[in-house]
Amino acid sequence: QGGPDQILLAKDLLMQFGGVKALNQVDLTVKRGTIHGLIGPNGSGKSTMMNVLTGIYVPTAGSIKFVEEMIQGKSSAHIALGGIARTFQNVQLFGEMTALENVLVGLHHTFNSTLPEVALRLPRAKREEQEATARAMNLLNFVGLADLAMEEARNLPYGKQRLLEIARALALDPRLLLLDEPAAGLTAPDIKELVAIINKVRDHGITLILIEHHMDMVMAICDTVTVLDFGQKIAEGTPAEVQADEKVVEAYLGG
Ligand code: ADP
Ligand code: MG
Repeated sequence: QGGPDQILLAKDLLMQFGGVKALNQVDLTVKRGTIHGLIGPNGSGKSTMMNVLTGIYVPTAGSIKFVEEMIQGKSSAHIALGGIARTFQNVQLFGEMTALENVLVGLHHTFNSTLPEVALRLPRAKREEQEATARAMNLLNFVGLADLAMEEARNLPYGKQRLLEIARALALDPRLLLLDEPAAGLTAPDIKELVAIINKVRDHGITLILIEHHMDMVMAICDTVTVLDFGQKIAEGTPAEVQADEKVVEAYLGG
C-alpha cells in the first residue's frame, strides 16, 4: 500500500506509556517533496510521533513504511542511516566543540578509515578528513554559518545553534528531515532566516515534517497539516482547512 509519491506511510500507531496513550491509532501519510506540518496543543503527542518515526521509541502497535522499508522496531541508527534525520525540541549540540566539529560528528558515518589509519594519518584517513571537512563547510555555508565554523557551539547565539543542528542533521544526507519546534524561542528575524533555510532544504528535494507552534510559519510554508489532540488525529488538510476546522479551534481553546 502507498503510492510512489508517498515517502512515509504510518498506520494505526499506538504508543502507550503505562496508562497514557501518547499516540492512539494515528495514521500519517507524508507526500514526497512536501513540508508536512504536525501541530497540536502541548502534550498532544507530536514529539512522541517523531520519536516513534526515528526509532527512539518502539511503537506499542502499528506500522511505519519509509520509502520501501517497514521501519517500526528498527534501531534509531538504522533509521538515521536509512534516510530520516531530525532535530530535537531542546538543542542537543556538543557545546565545547566548534560548529565545524559538530557537523563532522554528523558526517561520521561517511568515514571508512580504520583507527590505525587515522592515528598514523595515513593517506586514506587524511583524504577522508579533508573531504569531510569540505562537506561540513558546505553544510555550514548552506545554513549561513560558514563564518562561525571555528566558534564553540555554546558561544553561538541561540538562533544560530538551531541552524547548526539543522546542518548536522543534513550531514546524514537524509530524504526526510524532522524538525521539532525549530522556531521556539527565536526572534522574528531568526524565524525569517529559518523559514528561508527550510524552503531551501525542500528545494533540494528533501521532504520535511515540521512541528511548530508559530501558526504564521505553519500557514506560510506547510503544504499539508496534521493536527493531534490527546494522541489522536483530529484534523488534516491544507493550512487554511485545518485553521478553519472547529475541532482544531476547540482543541486549542480547551487545551
Ligand atoms: P507534545 O510534543 O505534543 O507536546 P509529547 O509527545 O511530548 O507531546 O507527549 C505526549 C504525551 O506522552 C504526554 O502526556 C507526555 O507526558 C507523554 N509522554 C511522552 N514521552 C513519555 C515517556 N517517555 N514516558 C512517559 N510518558 C511520556
Ligand atoms: Mg513536543
